[in-house]
Amino acid sequence: MKVQEHFCLKDKHSFHLNVTARYWAEYRNTDELGEILQDKRFYKLPVLPVGGGCNLLFTRNFPGLVIKSAISGWDIVHENEEEVVLRVGSGLDWDQFVESCVSQGWGGIENLSGIPGLTGATPIQNIGAYGVEAKEVIRYVEVFDRQTRSLLVLPVEECGLAYRNSRFKQEWKDRFIVCYITYRLNKKPAYRLDYGNLNEVLRSQGGLQEGPEAHRGNLAMIRRAVLAIRSSKLPDPAVLGNAGSFFKNPELDVATYSALAERFPELPHWELPGNKVKVSAAWMIEYCGWKGKSMGRAGVYPKQALVLVNLGDARGEEIYNLYQHIVADVHKAFGISLQPEVVVL
Ligand SMILES: Cc1cc2nc3c(=O)[nH]c(=O)nc-3n(C[C@H](O)[C@H](O)[C@H](O)COP(=O)(O)OP(=O)(O)OC[C@H]3O[C@@H](n4cnc5c(N)ncnc54)[C@H](O)[C@@H]3O)c2cc1C
Repeated sequence: MKVQEHFCLKDKHSFHLNVTARYWAEYRNTDELGEILQDKRFYKLPVLPVGGGCNLLFTRNFPGLVIKSAISGWDIVHENEEEVVLRVGSGLDWDQFVESCVSQGWGGIENLSGIPGLTGATPIQNIGAYGVEAKEVIRYVEVFDRQTRSLLVLPVEECGLAYRNSRFKQEWKDRFIVCYITYRLNKKPAYRLDYGNLNEVLRSQGGLQEGPEAHRGNLAMIRRAVLAIRSSKLPDPAVLGNAGSFFKNPELDVATYSALAERFPELPHWELPGNKVKVSAAWMIEYCGWKGKSMGRAGVYPKQALVLVNLGDARGEEIYNLYQHIVADVHKAFGISLQPEVVVL
């Protein structure tokens, strides 16, 4: 395992900002991870585990050690007619994994097609799209505990997975490094098509087929539809640096939402369990006039106001300033503090 110094991170994160890490290393297994974390050079430095860097905003050079999982491969740990349970290395590309599962006829993650990044971040961020979240398929998360220098198996119920959130981002921040994830997938049809225009797109392509033999083809069709919808709405980070949705949709209590809806009846919203209402951050940003606008070399994507983009050689501070201006304007107009989905460093 090679440790590199003053390492350029431009190609290691999806905003493609010109920043460096004081040290960079990739580990292929838990022994290599343990070895690197025992190296005295890094004892007093901050340590940042990363995957594909698709949900990070570096506002400056990282002064410590950035470590990337290269633990690859997956094994079937249990299988019957109904389900398959897979233990997957945290360094595997998420979308390649989804593609492999779909081609085997294993369902549950087809709606999460096209989300960039590695499997290791799926329990951290509780990735979600088209009505499905990672927490529905994750069973266990195997981690390296930096406090005790030991490996632990955490059942997903203990990990507090919620909307783009988990205990890994809260009280466990900086403690655990994800090494393996165990997912449970379906062999029987259980499709989720009720979100956005997914059903409409599928119908326009002839619709799903009936019968158990059609399952594998149906999963492939859903995957293709999700990929097509995503590429029509979201910028490709290889062309225009970005980190997907920069902001979370705020979750309000019913009273706060009702007061807001009196002033803004068109504000799109979704009712949640527990007397909560989720409201559209994109609508609020657009209302404040930010959609398609830019500040310096940082911009708001014209087709999707939640996405901030690097218009070319932007500095991290420029994206950060744009983010702060949007937060201030939305707060002034709606009295709501937008929270970033992206991890700001
Ligand atoms: C174009 C685009 C579209 C996107 N669409 C979606 C979407 O539809 N839904 C969605 O949920 N997200 C979406 N995202 C965000 C992003 O893809 C996800 O958050 C993804 O899970 C990030 O994976 P990553 O490997 O790049 O993680 P990184 O960005 O590298 O890291 C994210 C966080 O996880 C931590 N982390 C990463 N790996 C480990 C590990 N092994 N152990 C411990 N901590 C770790 C990091 O420290 C950081 O806090 C999108 C991003 C882009 C660029």
